[in-house]
Amino acid sequence: MVYTDLNTEIDIGSSGHLLEIGSFKILIDCGLHPKYMGLSALPRLDKILPETLDFITVTHSHLDHCGGLPVALRTQHSAHVMVAQDGSELLFRMLRNSRKVMEKQREEFGVREYPLFDNASIDDIRGRLLPMPFFHQRQFAADGDSIGITYFPAGHIPGAASILFEHKHQKVFFSGDISFHSTGVLRGAEPPDCDIDTMVIETTRGEHSRPEGVTYESEVERFVSSVARVISDGGSVLVPSFALGRMQDIIYIIYKAKQKGRIPMSTPVFAGGLGLDIAEYFEKMSKHASTFSFGKQYMEGVKPMRGEIVPGKDFEEKGIYVLGSGMMVEKTPSYLAAAAIMEERSNAIFFVGYADKDTPAARMCSLSNGDHFAFRDLAYVGSLNCKVDKFDLTSHADREQILDFTLARNPRCVILTHGSMESREWFMDEIIDRAPKTQVIIPEPSQTLEL
Ligand SMILES: [Zn+2]
Ligand SMILES: [Zn+2]
Repeated sequence: MVYTDLNTEIDIGSSGHLLEIGSFKILIDCGLHPKYMGLSALPRLDKILPETLDFITVTHSHLDHCGGLPVALRTQHSAHVMVAQDGSELLFRMLRNSRKVMEKQREEFGVREYPLFDNASIDDIRGRLLPMPFFHQRQFAADGDSIGITYFPAGHIPGAASILFEHKHQKVFFSGDISFHSTGVLRGAEPPDCDIDTMVIETTRGEHSRPEGVTYESEVERFVSSVARVISDGGSVLVPSFALGRMQDIIYIIYKAKQKGRIPMSTPVFAGGLGLDIAEYFEKMSKHASTFSFGKQYMEGVKPMRGEIVPGKDFEEKGIYVLGSGMMVEKTPSYLAAAAIMEERSNAIFFVGYADKDTPAARMCSLSNGDHFAFRDLAYVGSLNCKVDKFDLTSHADREQILDFTLARNPRCVILTHGSMESREWFMDEIIDRAPKTQVIIPEPSQTLEL
């Protein structure tokens, strides 16, 4: 087999992997880099000759994994698109929303190539879609050759999958973004338990191990008591959250806390538009989905965020504001909301997910109380008087869990992706230490490996 990492950098970036195995050519994921704009956000699609792909297999609907899909399809007319049957509609919702955001960015930042695709090319995907039920292998034959492809639940977000390719006696596995613990909304990953020859695994959390005694459940507990304290002291809480996955988890956690009387029933919850749209879809799909469920009652007391957010002007209505984006990226509702509430001592900003190094979320977490925080594009500098805290409610597995899972499959070769160099090196050292015969590779961007 031949493997090429199409991400442009060694980071989380824009996921894209090219797998050539037997007579099949498969693209796994085609994301957009969240830190770049325009064509430079795409993975190295120039490494794939036009009209050569058989399949594009999508692991999940976060834009760093699927945001460039319509662009890849433009030159690959006979490629089928595979996505997990659970939540397949999410792909379309995320792409349509991304197109809208690109239109705005074209105006705001003068990115001439935006939007990268139109609605018609999103709709075109439907004609080529192969929704994959979990655990059922599909066999495909061409030119006297055949390949088996199986999707496995990966936890992480509804519809997220790990993918196993079986060609002759060779098994190749892509973890995608993976999380083993179950939340109230979503079941944890259920990957295959057979031996695997080559594993391409994510390393998002490779830089840190989870502190002793800290679990997802204990972090939920600490989050609920911290929110309850701020509300009873008359403040508002801002929870910057990814619209897909995290926002619905937080809505569920708040619902449960209200049910148990931990947070007053009357506390209003405000959420971002796309997050509400996705929550509604989760609820609709719950009947048919095998890995997630979202009850209509979770949305009681949840309202859409309305009205203008003014820097330095605290929200009139006290409550819990669950707004995108999770990393508080410039110009997003959570970024604007932080500028509105941070000067007021009774308020709080609680981060609940992963934040890249140079993002406003990471910048704010590194400050002390009373420090200044500059919202440069808003021409506003405020004092950080409110509480700031971080809760580890991430939907990526701990590094030890991924390591144990990987070693238990007895792989001949492990390819480390989707993480910083430091993260990948931790995995590399551990694997070499514990399974010295395993070949461990940190691929150079766009390097082609014959394995
Ligand atoms: Zn993801
Ligand atoms: Zn990812």
